[in-house]
Parts: sequence; C-alpha cells; structure tokens
Amino acid sequence: MIALDTPIQFVKGVGPRVAEKLKEKNILVVEDLLYHLPFRYEDRLNPRALNELVPGEMASVLAEVRGTVLLRTKRMPIFEMTVGQGPVSMKCMWFHGAYLKDKFQPGQMLALYGKVEPSRSRAGNFKMIQPQIEILPGKDYPEETLLEVGRIVPVYESLGGAQLSSRWLRRVIYRLLEDLGGKLPETLPPELCQRMQLPTRAEALRHTHFPPAGTGLRLLQSAATPAHQRLIFEELFFLELGLELKRRRMRERLGPAFTTDPRVREALKRVLPFHPTAAQKKVLSEIVHDLRQATPMRRLLQGDVGSGKTIVALQAAFIAIENGFQAALMAPTEILATQHFLAARRLLERSQRQPSYNVVLLTGSLDEDRKRANRGRIVRGEANLVIGTHALIEEKVEFANLGLVIVDEQHRFGVMQRFRLMKKPNTAEPHVLVMTATPIPRTLALTLYGDLDVSVLDELPPGRTPIVTRRITDERAEEVWGFVRKQVVAGHQAYIVYPVIEGAKDDQPELDFAHDPTPEDVSEDESAASKGKSSAKKKAGTKTQTKAPPLFNEKPALKSAVAMAEELRATHLAGLRLGLLHGRLGAEEKEIVMRRFQRGEIDVLVATTVIEVGVDVPNATVMVIEHAERFGLAQLHQLRGRVGRGAARSYCILMTGGKVSPQAEERLDAMVRTQNGFELAELDLALRGPGEFFGTRQAGLPDFRVANLLRDRKMLELARQEAVRFVETGETEMSRTSVETVWAHLRAHWQRHYGLVEAG
Ligand code: ADP
Ligand code: MG
Repeated sequence: MIALDTPIQFVKGVGPRVAEKLKEKNILVVEDLLYHLPFRYEDRLNPRALNELVPGEMASVLAEVRGTVLLRTKRMPIFEMTVGQGPVSMKCMWFHGAYLKDKFQPGQMLALYGKVEPSRSRAGNFKMIQPQIEILPGKDYPEETLLEVGRIVPVYESLGGAQLSSRWLRRVIYRLLEDLGGKLPETLPPELCQRMQLPTRAEALRHTHFPPAGTGLRLLQSAATPAHQRLIFEELFFLELGLELKRRRMRERLGPAFTTDPRVREALKRVLPFHPTAAQKKVLSEIVHDLRQATPMRRLLQGDVGSGKTIVALQAAFIAIENGFQAALMAPTEILATQHFLAARRLLERSQRQPSYNVVLLTGSLDEDRKRANRGRIVRGEANLVIGTHALIEEKVEFANLGLVIVDEQHRFGVMQRFRLMKKPNTAEPHVLVMTATPIPRTLALTLYGDLDVSVLDELPPGRTPIVTRRITDERAEEVWGFVRKQVVAGHQAYIVYPVIEGAKDDQPELDFAHDPTPEDVSEDESAASKGKSSAKKKAGTKTQTKAPPLFNEKPALKSAVAMAEELRATHLAGLRLGLLHGRLGAEEKEIVMRRFQRGEIDVLVATTVIEVGVDVPNATVMVIEHAERFGLAQLHQLRGRVGRGAARSYCILMTGGKVSPQAEERLDAMVRTQNGFELAELDLALRGPGEFFGTRQAGLPDFRVANLLRDRKMLELARQEAVRFVETGETEMSRTSVETVWAHLRAHWQRHYGLVEAG
C-alpha cells in the first residue's frame, strides 16, 4: 500500500537506483514527490496550428519530425530540425546542438514550446530558436499519450538528466495520485478550508499537477489557481504556526527586568549630545518598554542609513548598565567596532558620570595578552560595556552578568538562533536588540525574524540636505576628479570606492561581511561556485535551455583601489592627502587610516567596500563609486549613506566603465531616482528574488516547496493571522480531530521542511 510516508524506492517505476538520485534532490518519501510541483504548464489541449502562429508570442505546438541536420558553421555547430503538420512546416534550431544529433527520427511526434520568430526559409514562415522540446509517446502507448497531449500538461524541473525528465515525472506522479485515490490525508482543518474557501489537499495536489480542462493558463503560470493557493497557504500556515509557538515559548522565558527610575532617566539625558528625533524617542520608548519586562527582549530595529541607530543603542546599553548589568555591542567590522568604542567613550566623558562606566574593546587585532586581560575583566564583571566584532563576542566570551546584547548592522538573517551560546545556565537570558539598515518589508520581517518585534526609525535627524546622485561614464573621469578637488579645497572630504583591492590576477571582489553577491559582483565561474546551491535550486527551466555563449570573451580590467590610489596621487589628485583602506590591511593599519580620516588629516579616502557599513564622518561630502555597475543595490545604498551626514550638500557619483547589464541599469536608475532605503530594498528584493536577497540556508530561511516570499506576501500575512487564531481559539472553534491533525502535521514536518533551528 502506498502512503504519503512510503519511502520513494517502493514507488512503481522508481527502485533503489533512482531513489538514490532522488535523495540527492531531497526527495525521500512519496509526499516529497507530490510536492515537486510543475514550474510551468503547456496548453496541449489547444495547441497552436503552425499556420496560425503569431511572431513574437510564446506558443505550444504539436508537430511531427520531418528532417534534421547538424550544420557545422565556423563559430559553432547548429542543429536544425524541420517539423510539420500536414503541408505546413517550421524550422527549429539549436546552437551548439551537436548533442541532439541522434535523438530524433522522422515521424516522431514532438511537443514544442518556444518563441515564434518570423522566417523566410523554404521551411515555412516561422521558426523557433532553442524551443523546449519533448518527444511524445508513440501510438503504442495510448495510456501515456493521455498524459502528454489533449490536456494542459505540467512541465517539471528535471530531477536528474533525461531519465528523470518531465515526462517521467508526469507518469510517476499521475500513478501516485491514482493509487492514493481519495486517501490523501488532509492537513488543514476542514473548518478553516471552508471559511477560506480552499479546496481539499487531495484536490489541490491533483489539480496543480493535472489541471482540469478549462483552467486558465495564466492563473496556472502565476500559481493563482485555488489549488495552488491552497498549497501555498498550507505551507505558510504551518511555518507561521511553528513561529507563533516559538514566540509564545519565548514569552515564557526569564529575562532581567530593568527599572528606569528618574535616576536612570537623568543619566540617559546627560549623555545625549543632541535632541533626539521623534522617531528616536518613539523607538527608545518601545525598547524601554521591553527592557522593563521580565521576558527577554527580542527586537529588530530597522532604520535607514544615517537615521541615528547608534545613539538609541547606546542609550539602551546605559539602561542595562545603570541596572547593574553588562551590555555587549557587536559590530560587523573592526573599523565599526572601534568607531562605536570611541563614540561611547566620548559620550561618557561628556556625561561626567562618576564613576564612569568601564568600556572594553574586543577585536581580533588586539594582541593576545590584551584580549586575555579584557576577557578577564568581562568574566569578573568589571567591564560594563563590551564592544567588539560579532565573531569575537559570540564565540569566546563569558560574561559575569550580561543583560543586553546589541547587534549592529546585521543583514544576516537567522542570527537570532545563535545567542544561546552566550547563555549561562541558571541566569536570566539577556535582552537582544538587532539593528539593520537593510529595511525589509514588515510582513517579511515578522516572518523571518519570527520571534522578533520590529521598531522602525523612519525619520532622519534634522538638517540633512538630500544627496545629489549622478551617473557618469568613465570618459568624464577628469571632471569628477576636478570636482573632488574643489570639494576638498572647500574644506570637505571624499571617498572613492573600488570593487577590488588589487588588479590583475587578483581580481577578487572584496567580500563584505553580508556577502551580497549580485550577478555583476563576481565573474561567472566564481558565482557558480559560490552560489552553488541557491542557483541550482532556482525554479526555472534552466535545465532545458541551452544558453548561447557570449560572442566575445574579453573581460574588461577592473580598476582597483591600490592601483588607483597610486595613480590619483600622482596625477589628478596630486597635492591632496590621500589615504588607502581595504580589507587586506592589518587591523591596526586600518584603524590608523580611519582615525586620520575622521580627524580630517586625510582628504580623500580610496577604499573598497570595507567602508560600506556604518562609517560615520560627517565632514565627508563626496562619494565616488567606480564600476558602480558591479555593486549590488544594497551595497550602493550603504555606500552612499557614508555621505550626507552633515549640514553641507553631499554628492554621490556613480561611475560606470564598460558594459552595463539591464539589471545594473535598473539598479543605477533606482539610485538616482530615490534615496529611500525601503523603496530600494523592495526593488532589490524584486530584482534578486528572496533567495538571493536574504541569502539562503544560513539565512534561517526555509526552503519553500510551493510558496514564494515575494509573490505570496499577502498569503503570508493571512497565514500568520490564521496561525495566531488557531493557537488562540482553535480548541473552541474546531473539532478535536481537526486540532490534533494540525499538531501532528506540524510535529512531523516542522524540523525538516522549515529547517528553522529550534530556539529551545
Ligand atoms: P545609523 O543609523 O546609520 O547607524 P548613526 O547612528 O551613525 O546612523 O547616525 C548618523 C549621524 O547622525 C551621526 O553623525 C549621529 O551623530 C547623527 N545623529 C543621530 N541622531 C541625531 C539627532 N537626533 N540629531 C542630530 N544628529 C543626529
Ligand atoms: Mg550604524
């Protein structure tokens, strides 16, 4: 008997060898196969007749092989095939198509799907270039034929070569659905399905794989049929349900409850160097509210670049300290950790508190003795505020009584799970504040950060003038350097940023801590290696499409920070004080350069993306980014955020050299058009897709089988509401069987499918 949890090798047509292959694709049991949904559908119920094609449209055609030929041209072999229906024929061609040479015989029936192009050959008025293609079963297999023609046919991502092709999947899945019959157990309460007008699970699966005649093709392609919607809801509902439980469990934990009596408030006021913005006040009060509870705070603070997150964070830290606890502030880079360290010390000096707090810096570049000494001060409780890099604090430090952890500029999602490392048994769990300048849409934030509350700093401090952003091609470089010089003469400072440290062989982009690769960030080979998993998983028919190779294989040389610093010093910017900053410098060197820039002893800082995040030098008014087409949108926005921090007008100059891809065009245009981080984040998400935007597994993002975070945001919100409602009133609204079914399914699937680390 076949059931959903039957191991895949016992399915008819599979067997141990194929099962091995499927395992690689994470398909272990029958259910996994059923949730391998088509990524596309072909209308072979109403296929197009060859004589009524329209150039430019995508069309499904059933036709017979008439003849094939492999043309060996100078540049590449081209495989040509003529297909026909009665007297009408059409030509199809595949570049580099040698592999297709012996695959077809005249008389075979084919299903073709591709873009119709006009043609003026003897073989008819149309052609298709590299269409998707399937050989249809011959007349000897009437049953199979029923799956292949005369219906809307599902097209699947192959699960391994030609053997586990779309056609194979159709057969196996069709048979599975038959065998399971009506015995496909329901996962959602019928009460819920009824209220939301969702079909049963059995029907949903049947109809997504084999849509009934009459289903709109457009609805199918956009996963908008009731069947699709049901499966999407199901997946998101269980995700949200699990998260809701985590949230509830979190609320049961014990954290240190701080007081904010007048004495503490007075202390806070004294350290403030300026009037907080209304948004800062609002956010601080949200944080204070959390800190006073005996449950540990889990809060995400989103604030665009320059919105003033640091001071809010430090205020929170001071509350912890005034309450007799230690606070830790973690930054993504040493530069930033050092900058925070200095800022904290400055604030404390101003406040003239007696005795002052003990602030300790913990970065990788400190010598071992210093590190050991500092750790000693931390474990003995002498250090009140510990500032350091993420890695350092997360891994090796023991605290005497840690009350608050602040994570600055965290774009890596899923960081929450790791805080347990710092928890000592028998002590209250510290409050946690995560800050990010990569704003993400609220519903997504709620989902991804499951158990986090979200605060938003949606206002910039007063007195900022908008940054003027311009795109300029390389040819006008001289004007740009002239402009930089003028700004320096006027008393300001400038950044000039490059994508790589050194040129030539060592053309490696400097990786920022968030590793934000865009297609342009890395060369093709590297991107395949580094993105490996995520790109292989993309739900597109990449398997069946043969990509035509580029016509020219030249890679333009990239200007590098090191080379350009030298060149500019000798030429256009001669006489100015230039500094050089990149990731390969020793930490101490970096710090010296940074400090000199901060003090105004360096006029122009030539750098890589090490300065991307957080660096705060209000006197800098020019940000020049060379090869801007190579940077991701989030990176560009971050870089631009380094200027416009003071009262003087600031400029961001995006220089492009060489070819700019359409995607890069969009990014650059967006940069010129808007300065709003939320808007840019939305666009970034749309351009890159959720997988790339959030990073993959390490992001703590589940591998969705059906849902797509971008497309299904509305459904996500709905699923969240329903999950909360289920937990709160499910018992009273639904039958006991319903409730138990849901819990049983969650237990069985949470760990594997949502892959989220249990926060214990
Ligand atoms: P981010 O949110 O990007 O971390 P920062 O905390 O570095 O921003 O703040 C950016 C700049 O704005 C800093 O120079 C900071 O001193 C200044 N700033 C922050 N809040 C205010 C305020 N309320 N009024 C004036 N300047 C402020
Ligand atoms: Mg910051």
